[in-house]
Amino acid sequence: MTTNQQLFDAASDVMPGGVNSPVRAFGSVGGTPAFMVSAEGSRLTDAEGKEYIDLVGSWGPALLGHKHPAVIDAVHAAVDSGLGFGASHPSETRLAELVRSRVPGAEMIRMVSTGTEATMTAVRLARGATGRKLVVKFAGCYHGHSDGLLAAAGSGVATLGLPGTAGVTEAQTSETIVIGYNDRAALEQVFADHGEDIAAVITEGVPANMGVVPPQEGFNAFIREITQKHGALMIFDEVMTGFRITEAGQWGASGRQEGWTPDLFTFGKVIGGGMPTAALAGRREIMEHLAPTGPVYHAGTLSGNPVAMAAGAATLEHATAEVYQHIDSAAEAVATGLGEALDAAGVDHTIQKAGSLFSLAFGTSATGVHDYAQAGAQEAFRYGPFFHAMLEAGVFLPPSVFEAWFLSAAHDDAAVEQILQALPGAARAAAA
Ligand code: PLP
Repeated sequence: MTTNQQLFDAASDVMPGGVNSPVRAFGSVGGTPAFMVSAEGSRLTDAEGKEYIDLVGSWGPALLGHKHPAVIDAVHAAVDSGLGFGASHPSETRLAELVRSRVPGAEMIRMVSTGTEATMTAVRLARGATGRKLVVKFAGCYHGHSDGLLAAAGSGVATLGLPGTAGVTEAQTSETIVIGYNDRAALEQVFADHGEDIAAVITEGVPANMGVVPPQEGFNAFIREITQKHGALMIFDEVMTGFRITEAGQWGASGRQEGWTPDLFTFGKVIGGGMPTAALAGRREIMEHLAPTGPVYHAGTLSGNPVAMAAGAATLEHATAEVYQHIDSAAEAVATGLGEALDAAGVDHTIQKAGSLFSLAFGTSATGVHDYAQAGAQEAFRYGPFFHAMLEAGVFLPPSVFEAWFLSAAHDDAAVEQILQALPGAARAAAA
């Protein structure tokens, strides 16, 4: 048997850090990453034959669980017709129509391959459509890794973004303004100072990349109001929340809003059913600024790939109200068990939820977590021991305390019970 350690050593020799996306390297929790070889339902199996209940869900796409028969059948059928045509084909329209039928305001859709590409293109489109240059983002909101959106968390009002990574120049982020999340006064100030130059405000429907930080009552509506007032666009990044969190049969965080829609949306993860697909969507008159109808360029060799379109459409077609009810109640059971286990072990914490998405923040009960500064101030060191105790007990959590936990339609009572059984030991490990 090849061990996880052997596989990680070999991977590290040929790929930086042994991974293709940094968080997979277990950097913040320590130890050797488990190398997964198969996934089915709510379970993953690693190279050593150990089985885990999966709470990563491929970082969001696995809404129905892994290898849902309808998705696999749709993918097989698509593969049998060819892996790609480099030309238009009917299943692009089918997935686009499915999105449009479920998301008010998503009048036209452009398929891309990753969430990063969706937000990057949405920002370019917003600049092209408004003729303005500045983009406002919130500290702690992640919109993928395009240069201009990697502006670091700035503090104060109208702080011009500093690059959050080597390799991004100040010039590339100088047209991104970073302000604190949930900070209405900062948003007002930014518009007072730069209103005529702001092309767009981009926000996550519910931020879930600094842990889950629900918008305070009315905050998203306030973004809508102030952007509209100043002729700027509102980009609602639903890569994480789209088709994941629901309310009243709606299909993402935007469904929770009453009486308004953003100008542009971005989707990813669930929309591709596990295959590399994402999308931007929005009002027709804005979307028609994209090439070939308009002057804003976007293209992609693999955009609208037929196998990915088939996986996405099958996933959305099977994402019924019952599926969401099941995921919501499984998430509720796990979040409740988590809170009880931590309380019993005397570990100070908050658990923040938005629909079935939730996350844990240690040592934050006095304030809760309303922005990036509070998220960063938590006792993150407790997560490594907690994570490894869960892993040992056969539960695969996101290897970072700042990530949400993902349940799926395949998390049945047995899976939930296994998670609940593992929590008290992990809570004691976090207390130590
Ligand atoms: N936007 C949000 C809200 C995300 O959570 C992510 C990824 O986690 C992205 C954009 C980037 O998506 P991708 O990783 O597919 O590039």
